[in-house]
Amino acid sequence: MENAHRTVNIRKLLAGSTLTTYISNIDRRNMQVNLDSADLASYRICNADSPGQYQDFRAVPHEYDHTFPGVDDEYVAGHVNLGDANSIMNVGDQIRTRYLSPILTQLNTVILDCTFRHP
Ligand SMILES: [Zn+2]
Repeated sequence: MENAHRTVNIRKLLAGSTLTTYISNIDRRNMQVNLDSADLASYRICNADSPGQYQDFRAVPHEYDHTFPGVDDEYVAGHVNLGDANSIMNVGDQIRTRYLSPILTQLNTVILDCTFRHP
């Protein structure tokens, strides 16, 4: 992977802001993670499959995981993993083995003389 470094930008939200005042995102091309001050705490959201069934969500690890190729939102209607609400790329907080391949590729690129793999 060419650029292993990430830049994290955090925007301070003004009083009265809501969860949708600024939508956190990533710029994968420039390896930038764009967050806001509300992302530093967990908040409750639901996915397209379970409206009204809110779960604790942490934006920081979710957005960071987006910096790896192929790790995309799973909470959207029609996604093959929409039913896995507990996953971190959905509305949950659990890592899944399906995210490990791009992470291992990055680790094996940036850390020399060491091989990372999962069983
Ligand atoms: Zn996302």
